[in-house]
Amino acid sequence: MNIPETNLPRIVIIGGGFAGISFIKQLKKEKVQVVLFDRHNYHTFQPLLYQVSTAGLEPDSIAYPLRKIFRKYSDFHFRMAEVEQINPKENIISTSIGTLNFDYLVIATGTRTNFFGNENISKNSMPMKTVPQALNIRSLILQNIEAADRSRDEESRRRFLNFVIAGAGPTGVELAGALAEFKKGILEHDYPELNGDEMEVHLIEGQDRVLPPMSEIVSKKAHRFLEKLGVQIHLRSLISDYDGTAVTTKDGKIFPTATFIWAAGVTGAPVPGIKAESLIERIHRYKVDPFNKVEGYENIYALGDIAIMETEEYPKGHPQVAQPAIQQGKRLGKNFSRMLHGKKMEPFEYFDKGTMATVGRNKAVVDIGKLHFGGAVAWFLWMFVHLWFLVGFRNRVVTFFNWTYNYINYDRAARLIIRPFRRK
Ligand SMILES: Cc1cc2nc3c(=O)[nH]c(=O)nc-3n(C[C@H](O)[C@H](O)[C@H](O)COP(=O)(O)OP(=O)(O)OC[C@H]3O[C@@H](n4cnc5c(N)ncnc54)[C@H](O)[C@@H]3O)c2cc1C
Repeated sequence: MNIPETNLPRIVIIGGGFAGISFIKQLKKEKVQVVLFDRHNYHTFQPLLYQVSTAGLEPDSIAYPLRKIFRKYSDFHFRMAEVEQINPKENIISTSIGTLNFDYLVIATGTRTNFFGNENISKNSMPMKTVPQALNIRSLILQNIEAADRSRDEESRRRFLNFVIAGAGPTGVELAGALAEFKKGILEHDYPELNGDEMEVHLIEGQDRVLPPMSEIVSKKAHRFLEKLGVQIHLRSLISDYDGTAVTTKDGKIFPTATFIWAAGVTGAPVPGIKAESLIERIHRYKVDPFNKVEGYENIYALGDIAIMETEEYPKGHPQVAQPAIQQGKRLGKNFSRMLHGKKMEPFEYFDKGTMATVGRNKAVVDIGKLHFGGAVAWFLWMFVHLWFLVGFRNRVVTFFNWTYNYINYDRAARLIIRPFRRK
């Protein structure tokens, strides 16, 4: 794979997500060789994937080339490849483009969609974890609205215009809100022959409230916001099947739909090779100590969503969101610097900056410590925070421009079927 031999310590990182990037950024001035692997040549800002799915933003606003982030780093090497196996005895990784030895390995592979073993759902539903998947959803939504527009059969029209989302966590809520706004802002203007009332957005959740990870106060607010937008919420409903034509739930409900978006769960994305005792099998996450070192290894670390660090305050590990990943990456990067200068590492401590979710225009909810609020102020705060954390100046400017334009014009300008979605 053409990585130069070196006498410096070689640090190999798997995954250019939030954790991997913030780790590498701390090593700019250190005398080390850094090799980053990712299956994509870009970093994905997952919190805004739903905006790509619902035609609010183009994908290049939320993705950023990994090579560009580190172009000023002297002994940094990126290779676009799938890491397939770790051999901890020999300190070697095997990838889709060859093998490489390492002195230190940092695993930051995040999560993958969890279909809970349901084959039909995995085959027929639309997951939303990557940019190509978000683009598939965008195409499918638009294709189905086109199909409804040319259909004279009421039953099939309803199937095309019924949008069903599994999971009322932040992603499900954000998707449902954006689709409901699509109906109000776009459908009624671009498709004058369609009866807008035929379009329905259903949000299905197994627990007894929307946004289960957030406080009850904001959960109630978000529920009200969604209802105002016309989203139909189905709580305490577990989905049992989707055959490509209708979603069925365990309590006997049936939702005919041609668009079923699965936002109901993720599980860790480990790389084979690490011993079973170091992995919690049920959730596929590596057990790490307070220094993010994988249990049972001296030179292998795990960061972010793939790592589970059990502490007194977080007995089930930190939440699988961006902040713990960013903060762990930063802490471990600083610890590597300390180690290289003969100093002791410092344990990781999580600083909870709060949680937020948006439902739509002027409607977001925020939990920060003892503060729980929703509405326009929360929405502006949500926009500011997301712009701030987007990687790359260009992405921030383009996103800001798009949001301002959409706000003024009630528009979602990226409603283009560039690459039609075809089910395999
Ligand atoms: C739709 C969605 C919405 C979200 N919304 C929010 C939100 O609003 N707020 C929030 O805080 N968090 C949100 N999250 C969660 C947040 O994105 C994750 O917690 C965060 O990305 C974790 O960072 P990470 O670095 O651990 O993993 P990731 O950011 O997932 O990065 C993992 C990287 O590893 C690469 N990779 C994985 N396996 C391999 C392999 N074998 N070989 C090569 N490369 C590999 C992947 O391509 C990816 O680039 C959301 C997640 C999703 C999916």
